[in-house]
Amino acid sequence: MEKITDYFGCNVFNDSAMKEYLPEKVYKELKNTIEQGTSLDKNIAGDVALAMKEWAIEKGATHFTHWFQPMTGITAEKHDSFITPTDDGKVILEFSGKELIKGEADGSSFPTGGLRATFEARGYTAWDPTSYAFVKDGSLCIPTAFYSHGGHALDKKTPLVRSMQSLNDSSLRLIRLFGNTDAKTVKPTVGAEQEYFLVDKKLYDKREDLRFCGRTLFGAPAPKGQELGDHYYGVIRPRVSAFMKELDKELWMLGIPSKTKHNEAAPAQHEMAPVFTTVNTATDHNQLTMEILKKVAEKHGLVCLLHEKPFGGLNGSGKHNNWSLCTDTGINLLNPGKTPSENIQFLLILTAVIRAVDKHQDLLRLSVASAGNDHRLGGHEAPPAIVSMFLGDELTDILDSIETGSEYTAKARERMDFGVKTMPSFKKATTDRNRTSPFAFTGNKFEFRMLGAPMSIAGVNTILNTIIAEAFDDFSDRLEKSDDFESEVLSIIRDEYKAHKRIIFDGDGYSEEWQKEAEKRGLLNYPDAVAALPHYTDKKNIDLFAKYNVYSEIELHSRESINIERYNKKLHIEGLTALRMAKEQILPVLSKVGADLSLNLSAKEGAGLSAVYERKVAEKLSQITDGIFNDCDTLENAIKAAELIDDILERAKAYRDNVIPAMNSMREKVDTAEALVDENEWPYPNYCDLLFSV
Ligand code: ADP
Ligand code: MG
Repeated sequence: MEKITDYFGCNVFNDSAMKEYLPEKVYKELKNTIEQGTSLDKNIAGDVALAMKEWAIEKGATHFTHWFQPMTGITAEKHDSFITPTDDGKVILEFSGKELIKGEADGSSFPTGGLRATFEARGYTAWDPTSYAFVKDGSLCIPTAFYSHGGHALDKKTPLVRSMQSLNDSSLRLIRLFGNTDAKTVKPTVGAEQEYFLVDKKLYDKREDLRFCGRTLFGAPAPKGQELGDHYYGVIRPRVSAFMKELDKELWMLGIPSKTKHNEAAPAQHEMAPVFTTVNTATDHNQLTMEILKKVAEKHGLVCLLHEKPFGGLNGSGKHNNWSLCTDTGINLLNPGKTPSENIQFLLILTAVIRAVDKHQDLLRLSVASAGNDHRLGGHEAPPAIVSMFLGDELTDILDSIETGSEYTAKARERMDFGVKTMPSFKKATTDRNRTSPFAFTGNKFEFRMLGAPMSIAGVNTILNTIIAEAFDDFSDRLEKSDDFESEVLSIIRDEYKAHKRIIFDGDGYSEEWQKEAEKRGLLNYPDAVAALPHYTDKKNIDLFAKYNVYSEIELHSRESINIERYNKKLHIEGLTALRMAKEQILPVLSKVGADLSLNLSAKEGAGLSAVYERKVAEKLSQITDGIFNDCDTLENAIKAAELIDDILERAKAYRDNVIPAMNSMREKVDTAEALVDENEWPYPNYCDLLFSV
């Protein structure tokens, strides 16, 4: 049996590979850049390239590629082989420092959100030495940033790395005031829990909505959904288990520390979670995880669905972004310790997060805004569209007592007693969980739960890092001016908690009351992507990101328009797919079924038999068929009208206000019809097949 310890990370040019393959001096330089963020001496690139090439060839690589994360949300790669022909008709294998450091990619084929209009189409990729290179599918993949000829970031990674730098500076500044002199860096750590569905590939292939949109546009509910709660944590079936085993192995070989796997709430839904790591690595890992989920699924005759809402009436899939801050000396700044009430550094940092989240609810909301996620947020399973925070009783009590100046007395932690002598007892956690909160403190980290399953985690972490850097700096400004450090810390906590505690909510985030309560508190409620996305370029946000050198104004504009256009394109595709399925598959079947029923009806009545079923169903189906036919017109006109609108935001509104309702109206009728028709006649596999066949 192969041991995990032998192959974990075997396809990554990680620290141990670097140590083995690089000259010592070069290794030390590179390590300094990776760990301390010092700028890289370009002269070592040649040595690094040589070592990488040797290492990669031993792993069977024939090509290299600059691997980057354009604003499409997926990863991009263009492969060049190492070969250089020689005079004697043979080849040698080459890879230069220049090829490592810089590449060119046609910027115009990637979304640029208008960045290209003012600049050349040319785009460049630049080696990011802080992310490890790796071998995948016979290619040496070199993580790179991607930017335009004018120097604007065209990718998701560059702003993320910029935000890490800013947060590092602001964090060090703050903890130095608390007397921490030994930490050299502070980095965000992230563990991204990933939900997904698995469906049989043969069934998937028969559904155009799944193939073109990644979700079902139609589908009558199966008699059984998730109501019994028997899938969550249920025994993993053999086919899924085989898939998960191979998935883990592939991830482990790439150094991705996949840790947890289990069945999720909905039938056919599952989850994987890795051990957390530094956020830029976690981002690479999550992108690779999504890719490998899909690849391994295909090998098992399955398709992995990452859409936020593949099936109506069942839970959708999200991604939980667990976020914390860690020093290079191993201190988690969000760890409250045994007695949080006495840990004023922790309480100040906690207050900084509360302030940041309250002040920039809009940014967190828009970082998860998409056509797909609109089906999830505000439904009754995922977090609501309103951003709020959950701290738990203990921390809320501590902050309340600081605010009011009253004494805090810790509640004794009870022991759990199971009433069974042979079982070990342990102390209860001080607080229960809150499953509905979009932003929950979970012991020593914050868990942001609004991300949709297919989304890159880069955007939201870029925002988190920046808004928290701002809060740290504002606090440091006050502290540096004060003579009495401790009392100033407490008064900052008091002032800021008072100003921002409206964001804290420990109740049921799905309830109607919360909507009303949140409105009373003045919290933002952008119900959908179209409402959220235009706020990228609010003045507040332009100023914030400029101050921290994370996004320039132009870069923000480009992201805003890319996301709005993406919304439009997704809905355009969905609208056309619904139309096509209705016209080419559903209506013809309904017509035939209706005709068959009428024949049976006349035959039976001719024979003097009663034919209530035939008459009623034929009538009902005819009505529905005509209704769907009408809806086709409405939908087609709505799509055409939307496409005529030049302004992308106005077009998005047309999709939201006219196209989506037309699709919904059509779906209702189609699903009703599906439930009336012989399943063997129905033109595509139904929910029972899709959800219960693997
Ligand atoms: P759950 O939220 O389901 O209870 P866990 O508590 O095990 O799951 O953690 C979920 C994720 O949070 C895992 O990916 C884990 O590695 C990550 N995590 C744990 N501690 C930290 C931390 N300090 N910083 C960032 N992520 C963390
Ligand atoms: Mg979790």
